[in-house]
Amino acid sequence: MADRTITVNHRGAARLRGGHPWVYRSDLVGSADAAPGALVWVRDERERRLGSALYSSASQIAIRLLSHEEISDEGLPDLLRKRIASAVRFREQVGDSDKLPGLEPRQTLRQAQGRLRGTRCDSYRVIFSEADLLPGLIVDKYNDVVSLQALTQAFDRDDLRGLVVESLSEHFPGASIVERVDSHIRELEQLPARESQLVRGERSKTIFTLNDVHFLYDALSGQKTGAFLDQRENYAAAARYAHGEALDVFTYQGGFALHLARVCGSVTAVDVSRAALEVAEQNEQLNRDRHCAGEIEWIEANAFDLLKDYATAGRQYDTIVLDPPAFAKTKRAVPTALRGYKELNLRALKMLRPGGTLVTCSCSFHVSEAEFVEMLGSAAADAGRVVRVLEKHGAARDHPVLLNVPETAYLKCVIGEVPA
Ligand code: SAH
Repeated sequence: MADRTITVNHRGAARLRGGHPWVYRSDLVGSADAAPGALVWVRDERERRLGSALYSSASQIAIRLLSHEEISDEGLPDLLRKRIASAVRFREQVGDSDKLPGLEPRQTLRQAQGRLRGTRCDSYRVIFSEADLLPGLIVDKYNDVVSLQALTQAFDRDDLRGLVVESLSEHFPGASIVERVDSHIRELEQLPARESQLVRGERSKTIFTLNDVHFLYDALSGQKTGAFLDQRENYAAAARYAHGEALDVFTYQGGFALHLARVCGSVTAVDVSRAALEVAEQNEQLNRDRHCAGEIEWIEANAFDLLKDYATAGRQYDTIVLDPPAFAKTKRAVPTALRGYKELNLRALKMLRPGGTLVTCSCSFHVSEAEFVEMLGSAAADAGRVVRVLEKHGAARDHPVLLNVPETAYLKCVIGEVPA
């Protein structure tokens, strides 16, 4: 039988004692003999107990700590059920659907803006992996469709997947459950290829609502739909300041653009992906009956080229949103990423009219908030613009941040104005 005890070196032990749940393979001592996805007990080199973890035989992250206790295989299901229940309860507390408009407590978007109708949200992240002490498991709720993603060998085990599905169907009776597969992650974890599939219920398609804006969700279509749920509160925040002529760069399926359309005279939304824009246009149709102030023009283009052309043509906007993909996928890529962010922000700042609003984001974990703000300051100086910071945010509250697990705090969103 495989040995369930894994020894980690000084660095691995220090990491676990410092509150981070990961130990890299290079910090294991001796050859790990555990089965893929097994529950293991972790000890330091002096045999002191560090707790229980889930093991991956493939990932560079060899173990992800679950508990400081040494729990048994029999105790594991109970622990996981409790963690799932606690994640669900946490969302009720920070607010889900009808309870949470995604705004400051006691202030609704309608009160804040006066021009938006209602504040309904029925979608949020239910389980955020390490941040919910369920490392390797992501669960999102899109109205009546719950989508789960197992990112590790452990949560891909039939018994654990079954437990997760059972638990979710108890917490969300009536909802369909879909398993979303990320084929790249399955390859990295050396798991056999599998298709995304409906595992409970009948629906894999739905319409969901964030801040009273409607979106399509189709979990099984070849073309991914869904939303950046982490931006939910930032959409609402952006709509508080947006006005006039707006430009939403990196719009994807229209997350910011559809919110801006409620309050701006016109919106131009740009993305390089035609497939994303097709869904964005359908999303626009879904919101047709709403009181939209402006039309949205969807433009398929490379954002860097387009901003350059627009700047040369002397185009001006009152509101610009920049929400690019993660430019820094590794620590080494940070300097190049910062140059990319600066180019975008510099061009945007030059194109803002006096009194204009800039909403600028970075979802690169490797670029810290301090580095991002410093880049922005440097872009403002080069553009010869004064920028007043109105709000700074991270991800929405359904994406909790753990102290000592910096990876859980990856999103930055700064809203600034160029004083008139
Ligand atoms: N703002 C969106 C999320 C953006 S995700 C929302 O709130 O939903 C990043 C998007 O950038 C993706 O849709 C991707 O297609 C697009 N993208 C990546 N590189 C691009 C480029 N060079 N020019 C334009 N769009 C790009």
